[in-house]
Amino acid sequence: MNIILLGSPGSGKGTQAEALTKRLGVPCVSTGNMLREAIRRGAPLGASAKGYIDAGQLVPDSLIVDLIRERLKEPDCAEGFILDGFPRTLAQAEALDAIGVAIDAALSLEVPDEDIENRMAGRRSCKTCGNAYHVESKPPKTEGVCDACGGALFRREDDNPETVRARLTVYHENTEPLKGYYEGRDKLIAVPARDDIAKITARCLEALGIEA
Ligand code: AMP
Repeated sequence: MNIILLGSPGSGKGTQAEALTKRLGVPCVSTGNMLREAIRRGAPLGASAKGYIDAGQLVPDSLIVDLIRERLKEPDCAEGFILDGFPRTLAQAEALDAIGVAIDAALSLEVPDEDIENRMAGRRSCKTCGNAYHVESKPPKTEGVCDACGGALFRREDDNPETVRARLTVYHENTEPLKGYYEGRDKLIAVPARDDIAKITARCLEALGIEA
């Protein structure tokens, strides 16, 4: 299954991608995690992307499309994938079509803007694998330590309130129109995403016609 997760920053795309990955056995492809990894490694892509990320703006389409094109060619994507954070613009959605991958569903996690700032304030991310936690709704088993890989948890620089507001504006202007794009292709499924994590995962699976 080739699935896209749409939704504002902090709507839970990463968390649901992690749950769906476990259930479906296909990889999660997160452009945000790939960019942060490139920054950590000191790769040229990271140097080009860092200023945009820190400002809450989108990295240019050309850089992102090349990154995704190469990633989707890897063998682990042969049976399907879950895209978390891509596409984020109409041009990216069109480029994905041009790559020739058929999308089965675009799940849009619906969370009102007024919930987002609070969610972001409590979010902690793993420095090593990118998994996300929340101090209240999804705490790690050991404080400050990633359950999945043992990496150190930190607060992302772009999760500060000012940058979150910029990211929400970018979302509404550039990414939200993708709902219409996938609706027109009969692929859009809106998923109310204010409840607890397990309930939202169950809704996603039901929407995909998969048993929980
Ligand atoms: P995320 O981890 O998905 O919230 O992404 C963090 C930041 O990485 C975004 O605010 C953008 O600056 C950048 N980014 C991630 N994915 C994309 C994308 N598909 N297109 C452009 N920029 C992206």
